[in-house]
Amino acid sequence: MSSDFYDLLNVSRDADDKAIKSAYRKIAMECHPDRNPGDAEAEAKFKTVSAAYDCLKDPQKRAAYDRYGHAAFEQGMGGGGQGPQGDFGDIGDIFETIFGSTFGGGGGRQQARRGADLRYDMEIGLEDAFHGKNTQIEIEVSQACDTCNGSGAEPGTGSRGCNLCKGHGKVRAKQGFFVVERPCPNCNGRGEVIESPCGDCRGEGRVDRPLALDVEVPPGVDTGTRIRLSGKGEAGPRGAPPGDLYIFVHVAQHGVFEREGTTLITQVPISFTTAALGGEVQIPDLDGSTNTVDIPAGIQSGKQLRVRGAGMPVLQGRGRGDLVVEIAVETPTKLTKAQREILCQFQETETGEECPASKGFFDKLKDAFTV
Ligand SMILES: [Zn+2]
Ligand SMILES: [Zn+2]
Repeated sequence: MSSDFYDLLNVSRDADDKAIKSAYRKIAMECHPDRNPGDAEAEAKFKTVSAAYDCLKDPQKRAAYDRYGHAAFEQGMGGGGQGPQGDFGDIGDIFETIFGSTFGGGGGRQQARRGADLRYDMEIGLEDAFHGKNTQIEIEVSQACDTCNGSGAEPGTGSRGCNLCKGHGKVRAKQGFFVVERPCPNCNGRGEVIESPCGDCRGEGRVDRPLALDVEVPPGVDTGTRIRLSGKGEAGPRGAPPGDLYIFVHVAQHGVFEREGTTLITQVPISFTTAALGGEVQIPDLDGSTNTVDIPAGIQSGKQLRVRGAGMPVLQGRGRGDLVVEIAVETPTKLTKAQREILCQFQETETGEECPASKGFFDKLKDAFTV
């Protein structure tokens, strides 16, 4: 069997989240261990497809997988937690997150599960990336229920020990020769059940609500920069700790500057007279000032002039990168009669020494073709 995540789920590489989820649901239903007791092959398959789904359902992990394949998860993903291999120890765990906790007691952990991490994509302009900016975003996110304080129990009521597992959170079942212990399906491994679930959150302890957040975008961010807002992800179920919110920054294309890391690059057309005689050009700086760039006489198209410290600021550091000015010499296309005459006079005085590269080239041609 192929180990490619897309093959495992039997979906195409451009399948959307919904298609992936439904493909996973179908396969997972078939091979779920509760439906195939004692079938090691089914269990192995379940784990593998669950790991694949765990990766592909997360846009960040999926992007890393598309780019680097399985290698993306071998070293962990910088700052982003573990890859799928580290995550599917408890099969029920993954299962619970998409089927809800009602499916035949698929499992669950006894300790409270942290809320999910969330992703928010933010596009900003190059000027904002240069200066940094404070902004506010609004997201719809699951937050602790105010009515029950996140406990899931109707105010004034509590929870009682689970009858089925007698508060242990685990039940034993005979499976062939073995006695297998698994999380209690009645209380989902918690060992206790809520007497009367909170009406506002149906016992979940959390509700979806819009949330306005202040975001500080630091100077120097680039496409691919992630800003983590700790604890601003989804609330955990029944008072469990919340996940984090990751803001993915995208910096929009700029009309004048291209960017490579902290280097800004811009193409500047200059007239052929400036190229021949030398001069200067003024390039606006993102900080509001102007950079004056000296053009040496005799400059050629494609030549790059570097202005130190006039590029993008270093993210969370000091100083700025460089500005690279790439020269494009423009040949005149509209000449007045008078200008034409001057150029013709100039041409008559040409000896070939003015343009050594062209002279060299034609000399070479002559050498090559004269036998
Ligand atoms: Zn509630
Ligand atoms: Zn129980």
